[in-house]
Order: sequence, then C-alpha cells, then structure tokens
Amino acid sequence: MPFRSLGLDAAILKAVQETGYTEPTPIQAAAIPFVLQRRDLIGIAQTGTGKTAAFTLPILSLLAASPSKGIRALIIAPTRELVVQIEENVRAYAKHMPLTVATIFGGVSERPQIKALEQGADIVVATPGRLLDLIRGREKAFAHIEFLVLDEADRMLDMGFVPAIRQIVRLLPRKRQTLFFSATLSREIEKLTGEFLQEPETVEIGRRSNPADTVTQSVYEIPQHLKPGLLLHLLQNQTLSVVLVFTRTKHGADRISRRLEQAGITTGTIHSNRSQNQRLRALNEFKEGKIRVLVATDIAARGIDVDGITHVVNYDFPPHHEDYVHRIGRTGRAKAVGEAISFVSKEDEDALRALERFTRRGIPRVKAEGFDDKAPAPPRERGAGGDRRPSRKPGEVRAPRSSSSSYRSGGQPRQRRADSSGGAGGAQSGQKSSGEKKGVIGRIFDLGRR
Ligand code: AMP
Repeated sequence: MPFRSLGLDAAILKAVQETGYTEPTPIQAAAIPFVLQRRDLIGIAQTGTGKTAAFTLPILSLLAASPSKGIRALIIAPTRELVVQIEENVRAYAKHMPLTVATIFGGVSERPQIKALEQGADIVVATPGRLLDLIRGREKAFAHIEFLVLDEADRMLDMGFVPAIRQIVRLLPRKRQTLFFSATLSREIEKLTGEFLQEPETVEIGRRSNPADTVTQSVYEIPQHLKPGLLLHLLQNQTLSVVLVFTRTKHGADRISRRLEQAGITTGTIHSNRSQNQRLRALNEFKEGKIRVLVATDIAARGIDVDGITHVVNYDFPPHHEDYVHRIGRTGRAKAVGEAISFVSKEDEDALRALERFTRRGIPRVKAEGFDDKAPAPPRERGAGGDRRPSRKPGEVRAPRSSSSSYRSGGQPRQRRADSSGGAGGAQSGQKSSGEKKGVIGRIFDLGRR
C-alpha cells in the first residue's frame, strides 16, 4: 500500500518520501486513517514498529489544514530521550510546513521552555513531571489543544507518572482527540484508556508483548563472574558493530564501559546519574557511529531510536518480561533485522522461564565458541553474584573450543544460523565439525515454539 492512499497532506507525503520510506508499516496503515477521521485511538505496538510516524503524520496533516492558534498538539512521553526523538521525527516530517515544535523535559533550564510555551509552538513534546511544573499558571496556553498523545503509556504507568498525567489532562480541553500508545495492554492500561479516551478505535500490531519477529534471540547460560569476559569475547566479532548493552545498575553500566574502553572498544554510557548533556552526547555519538557500544540502564534507554542497532545484549537479564520486550525492540526496527543476546545466570533462570511461558516461545541456548563458560570464580568473588571484578583479561581465551552443546528439553537440536568468520579472536574460526557449522558467535539450537 503506498503512503499516498492514506489521505495525508501533500507536504507530509513529500517529507516522507525524502525520508526514504517506501510504504507505511502495519501500525501506520492501520492507525493513520482513524486519526484522520478524528477518532480517539488506542495503538498497541512496540517501539520499532513505526508508531511515532503513525501518530505524527496524521496529526501534522490535520494541523496543516487549519491556521495556527498557539499550542494545538501535546505529545507526552516518559523520558527526555524519547521526547527529543519524537521532536526530531516531527521536525523531519513537518519540514515543508510552517509548523513550530517545542520540547519540555527536566534536567535543563526552564527558561527557554517557558518562552517556547508563551510563544505558542504548534506542537509541544513533553515529559510529564516538567510539563506539570510549567503548565500550572499557564493553563491558557493549553486552551486550544486539539490533540493529546500519550506515548509508551505502559512505561509511564511503571514510572509512576499517572497522577501527573491525570492532573495535566484535567487542565486540557475536554473536546480533543486523544491517541494512546502502549506496547502492552494490561488491565491497568485498559482502565487508563477508559479515563482518557472517548469511544476509541483500537489497533493492535502483532501479539501482545511479543518481541518483534525480526529479532533473532539467543541465551548464553553463564555465571555472573564470567560475563565481562564473555562480552569481550563476543565483541571480537566485528559483525557486532552497533551494540546496545543493558545492565541492571548504573554502577554496573559504568564498570562495563570501563572494561570495554580498556579493551580498546569505543563505548558510551547512559544512565540517570549522567547529565542530560552527557546522555545526549553519548546517544548522538552512537547514532553517528563514533562509538560501537552503548551501555545503558532500562530507564535511560527507553525509546532510544537509533537505526541499525545490530545487537542488543542483555548483560543482566531483566526481571520483567516487559523490559525484555522493550530492550530487544531497540534492534530489528521497522524492517531491519537484529539479534538479541541474553546472558543468563542461575539467578535469572526463573525470569527466563517466565518470559518463555509468556511469549510461548523457547529462546535457543547457545555456546560461545572458544569460550570456557565453566571457569571457576576467583576466590574473592565466589558467591558475590555481581559483575564487579573482571574474571579475565580483555579478549583472553582460556580454553579450547567448547564441544558441549547446550540445549534443553527433548528433540533434535537444529542449527539455525552460522555466520561467516569476522573478528580477531578464537570465536571466529568458522570451522565445521561433524556436519554442523559453527557460528561466529556460537552454535545456535532452535528449540522451536513451545
Ligand atoms: P518507531 O517505532 O516510531 O520508534 O520507529 C522505528 C523506526 O522505524 C524509526 O527509525 C523510523 O525512522 C523507522 N520508520 C518509521 N516508519 C517507517 C516506514 N514506513 N518505513 C521504514 N522505516 C520506518
């Protein structure tokens, strides 16, 4: 289906064409006509499906049809990074239109944001906390809102933003069009849609909460103390070229970044202890390809929109399956393919099994070629259960190629993928043995759907 059959304004179509999109993604094809018909909408779609354009394009199209009269569209998103990315999208799609956009988020001076509000940008993209601070006393500036978008509503719920959002919504005109996007549709989310929307249409792309089908997933069963070594080992493979690594803690993120930098791998870090400028700089360097690995905690990484992330590494396995889905949604975006690699230690096994039950899919267990995953923990670290200390030198390979396969529950293991050789280390031999190709990263056995 071509974009032009959706009924969007000609200036938007031109910008979309210049962006290089050839046809709408499924969420765009389903959502755009409803928005253009002025319907409230619930969009159940993960990041990476093209949902930002699904709400931005029709809103811009409708705004283009009437004259400017101050703030007309308010888009609320959970994090500053996401706000900045939505703003970038709006600017790109609106580049042939005389529309203005402003952003509002914490961690930076309020003054320019207040000025932008007072000048009345057509579109405001905001995080809930700072918006609530600024909206008080300036309710008039929001009296002409025609569109309200709540993006990544499930995450805003998790982050405790619902009371702030309620207060904000109370200050907005009742007669408005509301678009509500969430990756999951829980009972709590459904309750919120009842509060904020009127007779909404629902569009749902893919199974609820299921990882994007364009992402190949694999699990390395690995004790905590060997994780740093395994990460360095995998990164010897140059096909891991744009890599997002998730850690549970800020300190863990810093520690891993240092290890990678010491090993000569260009790395950036984003977490909530870093300043807004540091975070944006790391994100931009990652986008521009100046750094190969970005290490992030969940909240900081929320909504990262970087094209071409080849691999997501769950260095620490997420306890909640929603986080897993969000994390791996950073790769395999739109029509690209990507890989999600998870390090799973004993403590994570329950969470992994819960995820597999939830998605009704087994994730293949793999072994890293040339990496000894049975090496004992150094005495000081044994039982510490953390990633505090390096277990080996960067790039060191201790054991000959592992020969044991790792797969669970019955059935014949089936090899899924074998890459060509690439990087510097022992994992790249690409040898074949007993009729089974060895992958660059490891051998992968598909357990199939459960
Ligand atoms: P989103 O789900 O909004 O975060 O978008 C994910 C990625 O898909 C972004 O990098 C967009 O630039 C890209 N994208 C959005 N719409 C399309 C499209 N119709 N064709 C190709 N890529 C798209």
